[in-house]
Amino acid sequence: MDRIRLNARAKINITLDVLGKRDDGYHELSMIMQTVNLCDNLTISADESGAIEMSSNYSWLPCDERNLVYRAAALMKETYGIKKGISIHLEKNIPVAAGMAGGSSDCAAALIGIRNIFRIKASDTELMALGKTLGADVPYCILRGTALAEGIGEKLTQLPPFPNTTVLIAKPPINVSTAAVFGSFDMSKVEKRPDNALMTELIKNKDLEGICKNMCNVLESVTVSNYPIIASLKKAMLENGALGSLMSGSGPTVFGFYENYEKALNALRYIRKKYGIREVYITTVFNTSR
Ligand code: ATP
Repeated sequence: MDRIRLNARAKINITLDVLGKRDDGYHELSMIMQTVNLCDNLTISADESGAIEMSSNYSWLPCDERNLVYRAAALMKETYGIKKGISIHLEKNIPVAAGMAGGSSDCAAALIGIRNIFRIKASDTELMALGKTLGADVPYCILRGTALAEGIGEKLTQLPPFPNTTVLIAKPPINVSTAAVFGSFDMSKVEKRPDNALMTELIKNKDLEGICKNMCNVLESVTVSNYPIIASLKKAMLENGALGSLMSGSGPTVFGFYENYEKALNALRYIRKKYGIREVYITTVFNTSR
């Protein structure tokens, strides 16, 4: 096996709560994450060059140390003494800088792919510990499925599988800096906070209606006032058949849950026409078989 192809799936936030600020400047979070089937594709091969080569379908995406995939390859080489070359092609489909953990998921897939191709005896738990040094969301992207993420996102508790649902995803063409969103987050401006214990129960009972009623992301308190298109997209999804709609992560991506593909397709057509947004996708939730 000298070549391997992997899917690197995106995530959405069913909830996101900020509990406080730590001494190191990071925020203490408590959030329920869900993997979706919208994914990037990585093709990884081993060669005799000894070097790391990376390419991508997006010419503007850096393919050097600035890319988490490249850094994953360098870390695997260093940690496990891999002498051979590693060549990786990344096909991006997940919107970039969107609150969907695209880069972290690519990084997780690179760690797993390199482990498998070189038959390295490292457990997922070991890879999660390595991945944490590259990004807080990387361990979750290795675990995947439905999980409660605490700390800065790296402390994970696996939750029961999410009810099978069609998901519409829309990434408005605006740049939202994660650091700026957290920087202007003000707890006193938060009107509603998620109840993660209740949400866990609702997920366990596969109560999609209850889930939709209780989805909540406190970072909307920052982004919705700064970027009116986020509230407008949520409204458009709800008016076009969504059972519930929320911003994912620090935004600006908005997602909606739909009863079936046809309803999601109607909403997709409406959103493409009204907003002229290109990055609109229909996908489904992904549950692991663990
Ligand atoms: P999160 O949900 O964790 O905040 P995100 O969706 O906001 O993630 P990403 O798409 O992961 O953000 O990437 C944000 C930045 O990271 C981009 O500006 C990009 O230059 C850099 N980056 C590094 N590696 C990757 C990668 N493999 N794919 C996309 N962006 C990457």
